[in-house]
Amino acid sequence: MSNIDKKLLVVGNWKMNKSLKEAVSLAHDLKAILHDAPELLMKAELSVCPSFLHLSDVSKELDSVPILVGAQDCADNENGAHTGEISAEMISDVGAVHVILGHSERRQNQGETSEQVAQKVQKAQAQGLITLVCVGETLKEREAGEAYEIVESQLEKSIPENVESNKLVIAYEPVWAIGTGKVASEEDVRAMHEVIALFMKEKLDKTISIRILYGGSVKPDNAGNLSRIQHVDGFLVGGASLNAESFIGIAHAIEGQ
Ligand code: PEP
Repeated sequence: MSNIDKKLLVVGNWKMNKSLKEAVSLAHDLKAILHDAPELLMKAELSVCPSFLHLSDVSKELDSVPILVGAQDCADNENGAHTGEISAEMISDVGAVHVILGHSERRQNQGETSEQVAQKVQKAQAQGLITLVCVGETLKEREAGEAYEIVESQLEKSIPENVESNKLVIAYEPVWAIGTGKVASEEDVRAMHEVIALFMKEKLDKTISIRILYGGSVKPDNAGNLSRIQHVDGFLVGGASLNAESFIGIAHAIEGQ
């Protein structure tokens, strides 16, 4: 996507944090801040992804404001005999408009494969959800000079052939930058986002630009510089999204391109 006149998408991934009361209270705080600073929406679209259990209440709390709500995962199956799973249909039913898929924590801790991610993309898009697919290399892979190869392979396998491009967002999240306070250098982010943009143009309809978010220790004090990089179309934010001031601070820090 061209960096001219674009609105950045800032997505908060609340992960497995907050009680129900705290989640609704955070949503309430976001609503209040946005009420006093509506100009923020000129440069950023905001979205939050609470746990499955809190989706419904957070969605209701944010009903009257333009802050989107999404889930952090969904099943790779439709409704049926899948004990403990949550389907895309259920997520959509309680107010989610998008879903994060293939986050590195799920790839590492739950052994989720790119093929499963592709299956989830299909199920989620069939329910009208926007799918936010995460890719990113480990430190070992980067140091071995394999970062581009790994990310391209994840993209190739995680994006199904029949994907609806207009419902697809990519998040580049170097694994070593997630929750560590280490941000990828601006040059590394620029280079990887360019590789991803070119790869997606080759893979999909060349006329459609896919949004590419950066994720990995984004904070109000580094978001400004990162937002100026070409092909950085927004941020996926973990730690800094757990507090209303720091999450909104990231949107405030976005600079004109
Ligand atoms: C994430 O988990 O997607 C993430 C980017 O986390 P953090 O912002 O805490 O690095």
